[in-house]
Amino acid sequence: MIAEPPGGGGGIAPLAEPPLALSVDVEDYYQVQAFAPIVPRASWPSYPSRVAGNTRRLLDLFDETGAKGTFFVLGWVARNDPGLVREIAGRGHEVASHGMDHRMLTELTPAEFREQARESRALLEDLAQAPVLGFRAPSYSVGEGTLWAIDVLAETGYVYDSSVYPIRFRRYGFPGGPRGPARLTGTAGATLAEFPLSRLPLGPLRLPVLAGAYLRLLPRWLSLRALDHHVARGLPAMVNVHPWEIDADQPNVGPSRSPWTHYAGLRKTEGLLRAMLRRGRFRAAATRLRELGLIPRAGEGG
Ligand SMILES: [Zn+2]
Repeated sequence: MIAEPPGGGGGIAPLAEPPLALSVDVEDYYQVQAFAPIVPRASWPSYPSRVAGNTRRLLDLFDETGAKGTFFVLGWVARNDPGLVREIAGRGHEVASHGMDHRMLTELTPAEFREQARESRALLEDLAQAPVLGFRAPSYSVGEGTLWAIDVLAETGYVYDSSVYPIRFRRYGFPGGPRGPARLTGTAGATLAEFPLSRLPLGPLRLPVLAGAYLRLLPRWLSLRALDHHVARGLPAMVNVHPWEIDADQPNVGPSRSPWTHYAGLRKTEGLLRAMLRRGRFRAAATRLRELGLIPRAGEGG
């Protein structure tokens, strides 16, 4: 069940600026779903870690362009490099949760997910010294079959989710999901604010844009046009990047540069991101959801 998205329909007070949000899913190159079949979690410590260096490059780029964002940090990364989480918070960004071990919601029972939601939130709040409000599911895996996760997130103290990709795709996608920030209701009736990933209507098509692989795989002009589409209409947009997506020198995980979707466009991401961040003011997801009236302002309780 979805409440009408603000920013898309009528009746919402006009905002001072387009609600552009920026996010980073903080995980290392070998932890992504595409490598899950060949990289068991037990072997993660044996891979050379590059997440801290790549995250700092993003932090520098955000400083350079005046952008603030939400860093959805994987609990495993936070535990291995607590200083990185402190630095993200210290440089003025929002710290939020990407779960503990990058298992998709479709691989977890509600009880297992509850444990991950609790554990990652406590860990990150301790490091960031700030409330952790938001969650992003690995592989954007909040969909029709996993709406129970909304109930679990509400129960464990989160106030928003940002995991819905309102498209149809092989591994993820929630075509009936909200296409802009909205309240989303879980299976048991709890509600949470949702800031979905962005899509661009192209005739009958709904093209996933502005996030992850799409930044690298779509032509640069199309990503910029997708951003302009949102800016011109004052629509909320979510730009999302992974630290490994600006790292053309990352080691091969498999026997070759495969799958190609992981390695394509790594050299262009940083330049594209810089161009996008110069086209508007980017802020953390929680900041934008507060402005949209979907989560309480700091000090208002809730
Ligand atoms: Zn991820």
